[in-house]
Amino acid sequence: MTLRVAIVGSGPTGLYTFQKLIETAEPLSIFIFEKGDRAGIGMPYTSETADRRMLANIASIEIPPLNQSYHDWLTSQPKAILRSYGVDPDTFDVRTFTPRMLLGEYYRAQFVSLVGKAEARGHFVSIHEGTEISDVVPEAGHVRLETTVGPMCEKFDRVILATGHMFPIDDDPTDHYYPSPWSGLIDADIPAAEVGVMGTSLSAIDAAMAVACQHGQFLQDRDGELSFRPKDSGTKLRITLLSRSGVLPEADFYCPIPYEPLAVCTPDALATERELGARGLLDRAYALFIEELEHDDPDWSKSIGLDELDADSFADAYFAARLQSDPFRWAR
Ligand SMILES: Cc1cc2nc3c(=O)[nH]c(=O)nc-3n(C[C@H](O)[C@H](O)[C@H](O)COP(=O)(O)OP(=O)(O)OC[C@H]3O[C@@H](n4cnc5c(N)ncnc54)[C@H](O)[C@@H]3O)c2cc1C
Repeated sequence: MTLRVAIVGSGPTGLYTFQKLIETAEPLSIFIFEKGDRAGIGMPYTSETADRRMLANIASIEIPPLNQSYHDWLTSQPKAILRSYGVDPDTFDVRTFTPRMLLGEYYRAQFVSLVGKAEARGHFVSIHEGTEISDVVPEAGHVRLETTVGPMCEKFDRVILATGHMFPIDDDPTDHYYPSPWSGLIDADIPAAEVGVMGTSLSAIDAAMAVACQHGQFLQDRDGELSFRPKDSGTKLRITLLSRSGVLPEADFYCPIPYEPLAVCTPDALATERELGARGLLDRAYALFIEELEHDDPDWSKSIGLDELDADSFADAYFAARLQSDPFRWAR
């Protein structure tokens, strides 16, 4: 009897879990359950949640490789396919942002090749697309799963939940009100009107893009300035994003440059502080953090008056410049 492992959900979490599982020398029976029609893509990267023009906020350099890196996979694609997603096949590189749906195709291709790899390594894989798990029932010595169409007779030794996050839809959409960008907005024809978007999160920007792209396109000039060119010059389209705090989401790149290797606030230095006991530990750790920042970026440290700050006042000082700036310019 091989160990029977169920993975519920086959987005990136399910995929990276699957990649790790099949490295084991012991043959496993792996069952993958995906409520969507195609396994291995992930919620933000499907046509149900994204439009071809919506970009992922993560580039190849930040994506842990599966069978191939995202960049290598893009390079192996026919140029016409990349062009059809608006990616210039001659200029993209590891830092190019690509449409989410193209990233979804990468994940899907990697999923298919991982399944082949798993089988070649002697694992048994069973894929259940279009299958939504509605309950996980622990029983003596095993776990049972239930689907939305009824219980399964299969029993599992391990169940891994990789279902991502859910969006509460607390209201029904109408033709002029959408409680979330995924309540039909992506496919709806929105007339050129006054549109209000509550919030400025990435989802809010998605919602604004879903409307704006129906009425024109964003163009970048030689200086990198972005402007919107409407299809109809007399358009009545006006989009307002309403923000409680006045800030846009931070562009959060995974790039350990230029701060690594750390000089002061190292894991060893923090471990030494921990060994000295809990008393005053936050202040001592904070002191190391400040010393690190002063060492790495003395000008910036001076500009926010770092030496006058403490762990409580740091956040306000950190955000002050951002709050005073035009949020779009800052995000850019
Ligand atoms: C609009 C939006 C855009 C985003 N864009 C980016 C981005 O550009 N870059 C980035 O790094 N991150 C982005 N994210 C964050 C994103 O959630 C993660 O990058 C990633 O998708 C998380 O992977 P996951 O596998 O945990 O979850 P998901 O991608 O949500 O995958 C979960 C999978 O489980 C399936 N599933 C759920 N419930 C069940 C069930 N009961 N039974 C069977 N299957 C089930 C779903 O269909 C889905 O395929 C975005 C998030 C949102 C909401």
